[in-house]
Amino acid sequence: METDAGNLQQKRMYLQGLRQVNQAKFIPVLKEVHEEIFGRTDCLACARCCTSIPPLVTRSDIKRLAAHLGIAPKIFQKRYVLEDINGELTLNGVPCTFLQSDNQCSVYDIRPEACRRYPHTDEDEYVRRASLNLANAQLCPAADAILNRLQQIFPLS
Ligand code: SF4
Ligand code: SF4
Repeated sequence: METDAGNLQQKRMYLQGLRQVNQAKFIPVLKEVHEEIFGRTDCLACARCCTSIPPLVTRSDIKRLAAHLGIAPKIFQKRYVLEDINGELTLNGVPCTFLQSDNQCSVYDIRPEACRRYPHTDEDEYVRRASLNLANAQLCPAADAILNRLQQIFPLS
């Protein structure tokens, strides 16, 4: 039986090998697979992303969220944002402060762009992000299912 470590290594190698696939053929299929898998994924029954990884936020996310809450961006940042030593900004709550007890996002329509795009499995840059894709597949069941499906459609020798 394949070990978890072996499985992880196999996925890492696969994701790195995807660069050799014809991108003009690969990207439309990737988008189809993303739609298919998310079409049958119940994110409200999962919420693993919102409960475990604080999303990056941009200045524009902060302005929009602050306006929604009726507070100044500076106040929003003080209450809800962390800045690391590289100046990277993330929301500060894990699980996320805006996640409700029924797993709905209380700011869904204006959520940060990073939340809207997660797990980035329908983006043209997918093949250039092997490490990120592997990390996302470990956390997000939909990203993992997408990766498994890609391995069936585009087996690499
Ligand atoms: S971890 Fe993936 S499947 Fe789960 S809620 Fe987030 S996007 Fe949906
Ligand atoms: S802002 Fe909404 S979508 Fe983003 S992590 Fe928080 S609860 Fe989840």
